[in-house]
Amino acid sequence: MTWAAIEGAAFRQSLDERPVQPPLDIEAVRKALGDLEDGPTPARETLQQLVDAVTPALTGTAGPRYFGFVTGSALDAPTGAEILVTGWDQLAYNHLSSPAAAIVEEVTGEWLKELLGIPADASFGFVAGSQGGNTIGLAAARHHVLAAAGWDVERDGLFGAPRVRVVASEERHATVDRSLRILGFGMVPLEQVAATANGAIDVGSLERVLAAGPQGPTIVFLQSGNVNTGACDDLAAACDIAHRFDAWIHVDGAFGLWAAASPSTHHLCEGIERADSWATDGHKWLNVPYESGYVFCAHPDAHAAAMAYSASYLVGPAAPAIRAPGDFVTESSRRARGFATWAALRELGRDGVAELVDRCCRLARSFADQLREIDGVEIGNDVVLNQVLARYGDDERTDAVITAVQRDGTCWMGGTTWRGRRYMRISVSSWRTTPADVDRSVAAIERIVAGI
Ligand SMILES: *Cc1c(COP(=O)(O)O)cnc(C)c1O
Repeated sequence: MTWAAIEGAAFRQSLDERPVQPPLDIEAVRKALGDLEDGPTPARETLQQLVDAVTPALTGTAGPRYFGFVTGSALDAPTGAEILVTGWDQLAYNHLSSPAAAIVEEVTGEWLKELLGIPADASFGFVAGSQGGNTIGLAAARHHVLAAAGWDVERDGLFGAPRVRVVASEERHATVDRSLRILGFGMVPLEQVAATANGAIDVGSLERVLAAGPQGPTIVFLQSGNVNTGACDDLAAACDIAHRFDAWIHVDGAFGLWAAASPSTHHLCEGIERADSWATDGHKWLNVPYESGYVFCAHPDAHAAAMAYSASYLVGPAAPAIRAPGDFVTESSRRARGFATWAALRELGRDGVAELVDRCCRLARSFADQLREIDGVEIGNDVVLNQVLARYGDDERTDAVITAVQRDGTCWMGGTTWRGRRYMRISVSSWRTTPADVDRSVAAIERIVAGI
């Protein structure tokens, strides 16, 4: 185990100079993993084989010049906390299975609400990511709006239930649709709202859509942080409108909700406290290792009604004085997710979180400013947060530049289609990225663009 921790740390240290994504030989990795064997292998040798097999195929996500997928790199303290969690091997279902895990989630959930400006009496759950958070928020919403219409969805299900309207921007994240499918809504109830030029919800259009349809149980999805442009919906205006229609408002703020934690970007989340449920990630902008997300709900009863269950062996003889983490999520035997987030928030402090958000936004603007200076480069979005869309001539050339940059290995950014055109999508979300990393990445891109 000690060896594994040291090996992991050494890998992290190598990332400043290692290609972000080295050339891949898929067959070699498969072959190195070998076949299922009849007999045992000593633990230390097993781990050595694993390291040797997969190291060539590891992505430098934890390094300073990884700009893909809106995900940051994990900070040292939460990474260490994850090593401890693995060593401690806690079952984070409730106070009986692990008092430590339950208490840490209790404390950390309060910290998160305070940082983000979510009402202090909101319930919360530590989930695997915003996909899970959106699904749970939607489940709580489903419970609440149907209960108001006299229907018990937990008992009677959706067959025969009153129709629920689901209203969301055409710029919603693709995972919202998966949440709708998982919860049995399908795509039919979805009413789409137009978006502004930078990809935030058009509040005028939201009002028109809500007014045009049949009144009744309604759920509105809003978004803080468009995955392409970083645009944040006007939560205050949208909440005013949606609440007039008695709608439940869920905010998908996977990365963008962190804007609320910095005084200089807080205005982007103005009105956040007026929503009914929220989802955000630790593993994106807070730089916690993967499988760290949160869901919050302004109606704890609806949240618990949608998620909690019990079995005789799960509860102790005495009334629990500690909140049960398992009552607010979809998993029972689950990893103790609170420790890593506690460690990230302790390592950064309130000011450190704000500084991380500000720095990433500053570096994103620096990316845009420098790339704009290169001949033929066009920036496709208004850089309001940490996302930059860059285009290099036509679609084909843009894709060629993205592929060449990924192959070059100095930095890694993905591609996306925004408003029908291909772009390189640059997401600055890592505590490790410095101005020098941006300069170095821009220089690599400039060199590659000149050669294509
Ligand atoms: C990443 C993202 C999600 C999904 O979050 P996961 O952590 O991948 O589950 C949902 N919505 C938005 C806006 C995102 O950026």
